[in-house]
Amino acid sequence: MYYGGLARCPFCGAKADMGASLDAEERPKAYFVACDTCGAHVFFDGIPSADNPEAALAAWNRRTAEQDGKTCPFCGGKVTIDSCPPEPEEAPECGIECEDCHAYTSFWGTIDSSTQAEAEAETLKRWSKRKI
Ligand SMILES: [Zn+2]
Ligand SMILES: [Zn+2]
Repeated sequence: MYYGGLARCPFCGAKADMGASLDAEERPKAYFVACDTCGAHVFFDGIPSADNPEAALAAWNRRTAEQDGKTCPFCGGKVTIDSCPPEPEEAPECGIECEDCHAYTSFWGTIDSSTQAEAEAETLKRWSKRKI
């Protein structure tokens, strides 16, 4: 789905696109923004009105002045690493969740690590980069 007016990816500066996860009746349940260039997927399930594309767009387009990569690029909040144990057939991956705005970032299918610790280090390294 193309959704106009999205700011560029904060991690790599490329164009991003919006998608939605669907509920059982195939109605949009929560929106996410994905970057094809670096693989970043940012889920906004936690934000109020997660089922409203305008709210997800506003959450993505927000940028904080702080650019040192240690806080959430969207709100400046504190973040925690979320270790999602890999499926047996899949490479380890993890996500980073903001405790304040609940944006959840992962780099789907682009983290090539054999252990969970490596996957977390690589995710954090990529996430800490700021282009925008
Ligand atoms: Zn990107
Ligand atoms: Zn945040």
